[in-house]
Amino acid sequence: MKIPPGNLASSDCLFCKIVAGDIPANRVYEDEFCIGFPDINPQAPTHLLIIPKQHIASTAKAEAEHSTLLGSLMSAAAKIARAEKLSKGYRIVVNTGDDGGQTVNHLHLHLLGGRHMNWPPG
Ligand code: 5GP
Repeated sequence: MKIPPGNLASSDCLFCKIVAGDIPANRVYEDEFCIGFPDINPQAPTHLLIIPKQHIASTAKAEAEHSTLLGSLMSAAAKIARAEKLSKGYRIVVNTGDDGGQTVNHLHLHLLGGRHMNWPPG
C-alpha cells in the first residue's frame, strides 16, 4: 500500500514522538503502517492504542485516500485482539475532537477488553 500524501510526522505530536522512538512505548504490534502499545492510563485489563505511523490528527481529517490506511488500523486491532486472547469480546473506540473526548491529536484506536463493557458510554 502506498502512503497517501500529507504530513508524515508532526513535530509537536506526542504519538509521532512514540512512532519515532523518542518517547518509549512497549510495541506489542508493529507493521509497515501502524503500531500498537499499552495505554499509559488503562481503563480495562487490556487497553491498547493502535496508531498510524503517519500523522493524521483525527478521523475528522481523514480523506478518501486514507481509506486503506484506516482499514489497516482495524485489521491490526483484530489481529492484536486475537493475540491478546480477547475471545469473549472487546471494544474499539475512536474519540474525535473535543466533544468526542479526544485528548491526543493523532488518530488512534483504543482496544479495550478483559471486562464487560457498558452501553451507552459516558
Ligand atoms: P484520547 O483521549 O485522545 O482518545 O486518547 C489518548 C490516550 O493516550 C489516553 O487514553 C491516554 O491515557 C493515552 N496517553 C497519553 N499520553 C500517553 C503516553 O505518553 N504514553 C501512552 N502509552 N499513552 C498515553
